[in-house]
Amino acid sequence: MNVYDSSRMADVVAPLGYESSETAADADLVILNTCHIREKATEKLFSELGRLRTLQKAKAEKGERMIVAVAGCVAQAEGAEIQRRAPYVDMVFGPQTYPQLPEMIARVTRGAGGILNTDFPVEPKFDALPQQEKTGISAFLSIQEGCDKFCAFCVVPYTRGAEYSRSIKAICEEAHLLIEKGAREITLLGQNVNAFHGMAEDGSVWGLGKLIHALAKIPNLKRLRYTTSHPSDMDAALIDAHRDVPSLMPFLHLPVQSGADPVLAAMNRKHKAADYLDLVGKLRAARPDLALSSDFIVGFPGETEADFAQTLDFVRTVGFAQAYSFKYSRRPGTPAAALPNQIPEEVKDARLHALQEILRDQQIKFNQSLVGKTLPVLFDDDGRHEGQIHGRSPFTQSTYIPLPPRGRDAIVGQELQVIITSARQNSLKGDLAIPLGGVRE
Ligand code: SF4
Repeated sequence: MNVYDSSRMADVVAPLGYESSETAADADLVILNTCHIREKATEKLFSELGRLRTLQKAKAEKGERMIVAVAGCVAQAEGAEIQRRAPYVDMVFGPQTYPQLPEMIARVTRGAGGILNTDFPVEPKFDALPQQEKTGISAFLSIQEGCDKFCAFCVVPYTRGAEYSRSIKAICEEAHLLIEKGAREITLLGQNVNAFHGMAEDGSVWGLGKLIHALAKIPNLKRLRYTTSHPSDMDAALIDAHRDVPSLMPFLHLPVQSGADPVLAAMNRKHKAADYLDLVGKLRAARPDLALSSDFIVGFPGETEADFAQTLDFVRTVGFAQAYSFKYSRRPGTPAAALPNQIPEEVKDARLHALQEILRDQQIKFNQSLVGKTLPVLFDDDGRHEGQIHGRSPFTQSTYIPLPPRGRDAIVGQELQVIITSARQNSLKGDLAIPLGGVRE
């Protein structure tokens, strides 16, 4: 979401003459776009601001101006604190306000002093944004924002606000535009994307499953994905879309957070471990090659050894192709921050280590199971090493093949069959199953 938001901010300031610069030292405007999900982000922000202050002073000595801004969820949650600790920051603004960037910049350049803008404007922000100017082969398209779930550990409902879904018309227009500009894969974004309920022009309300069916008809759109989902919002239409829409990739990030019901209840997750397992069964029946990814929090307040053991069993039962796992960290203002029975750091460390070991083994095993198979790979860029080209498998792993003799431009943007020859934890290597043009070169 923040990658998408950052590129949309660049679109908003482009008409004012701003272009992206290689380094912060060259920039007239630096916006730090922040995430508030984990505690470390705030401290990282202040150390980055310290570095920018040095650059800002160096520019001032040459008679030049560098506007420094903090955007995103840390700005939303801790705006006044940022202004207190770093008074040289010119603008602090939340995620709902970046369509107002030109106005905020104008106020700063007129010498209006530090700006703090953490409004939730009535006008939906997406309607006030210009078109996306640039796209890669893989593009993000934000269809939903905010969340009404109020998980006890999470800041999103406070920083991004209530659930809001864009209209079907606006989404389809943006998708067509992205494809016209060269995108071949679209990832639909939202904090709680499968809670999507967008209004169509005839006044009917569409869920995510119906939207996916409509978008899949766009010519040259080869792949669709969506992230991030809540298990309680996986309805039958969305599960059926996994069966019926070939361009919906067989990879789903579906956070569960814990495999123990007492912890899920304390987290206010609104689902039990068995509900998730039931869902996995339905999804795999609909799309047998579906690979799953998830999020886990270990050491949530009150998590016992028995609860944690259940999480490990749960992971072994499901089998994940990849997952993100974190130690619980207290986020100020969330209900969990005030819960008793906070878990000592060393216990959290040990649990995280044990969980990550199993998840890493599962990821390696999943990747190795692909060796010898032929997979469609969507090629998007140069590889890490010279003479390589990079693409993504249906399961999102980076996949590298030797650069074909016809060169990069002959292959970027194409989805081609690749025989997988080797696998590592995070990437695959392979060779084209049929050389470009169908002739062995
Ligand atoms: S569903 Fe996701 S975004 Fe919403 S409160 Fe829970 S963790 Fe946060």
